[in-house]
Amino acid sequence: MSPDERRDGVFLEDEALRDGLQMEARRFSLEEKLEIFHLLRRAGLPRIQVGAFVHPAVVPQMADTDELIRRIGASPGTVISALVLNDKGLERALACGVGHVNMSVSVSDTHSRKNARCPAAEALASMTELISRALAAGLDVQGGLQCAFGCVYEGPVAQEAVLAGVEAMARAGARDVSLADTTGMATPLSIRRLVGRVRQAVPEVRVSLHLHDTRGLGLANMFSGYEAGVRAFDVCAGGLGGCPFVKGAAGNVPTEDAVHMFEAMGIPTGIDLAEVCRAAALLEEKLERPLPGRMQRVLKHAGSC
Ligand SMILES: [Zn+2]
Repeated sequence: MSPDERRDGVFLEDEALRDGLQMEARRFSLEEKLEIFHLLRRAGLPRIQVGAFVHPAVVPQMADTDELIRRIGASPGTVISALVLNDKGLERALACGVGHVNMSVSVSDTHSRKNARCPAAEALASMTELISRALAAGLDVQGGLQCAFGCVYEGPVAQEAVLAGVEAMARAGARDVSLADTTGMATPLSIRRLVGRVRQAVPEVRVSLHLHDTRGLGLANMFSGYEAGVRAFDVCAGGLGGCPFVKGAAGNVPTEDAVHMFEAMGIPTGIDLAEVCRAAALLEEKLERPLPGRMQRVLKHAGSC
């Protein structure tokens, strides 16, 4: 199922196994990751990002991504995705047979230097080249721009920089580009303005949103994106996550809260809320702390989760 086939509803990609677990000091075993994956799959998530092909010494939590993808194997109805940030990552993605990859760079120079160890323009140039190669190799590619709505080091990010990034990725052949509010600095208004501008300037690209809830505006931003025409969003069960290079960063919008918001407004997600809450509850149990998602608690008190 692609974002295109969900015209009447929204397409949610869960990233708890990647964006969520990469921040955790507790190391999840392959079996534990599989258990969470199967809960999310049973909940009906159309796409699940299960890991990242990054250096195991830098992000040890993601070291078993290749093995995890091999163990998952065929998963009809659920697209398996992983994050690719460089040549070596693309090589690993192709070797383990993942079908969908997110390939992203930061539009903020300082964040890019910290995260990718090179200036933003340079990172974008090598990423577009890598995107072309991934597409030529038959991968389904979603481009991504981190810090699209602001950077904790640099403050506001110019719309032009984001636009240039989307255009460059479109020229490389990407038809899907995710705008990430890595730092949680977006507001419903900035979402509407930037998404509107990008959709107008590069109409051939489907924009999706990756929204961190650092300042509590996650759901409001998500709905603003929906009203601006976005139909695909990244989410994390339980609201797990953050960014190792952004101090104080919180997780993505909790999957269960996004499902509730859309479904309560009559916008289908194709996702079973109670099942997502089971995944969030399992994550809480393993991490031995409450996670930010609200609906899990609501359902627990209502006796249905
Ligand atoms: Zn993120």
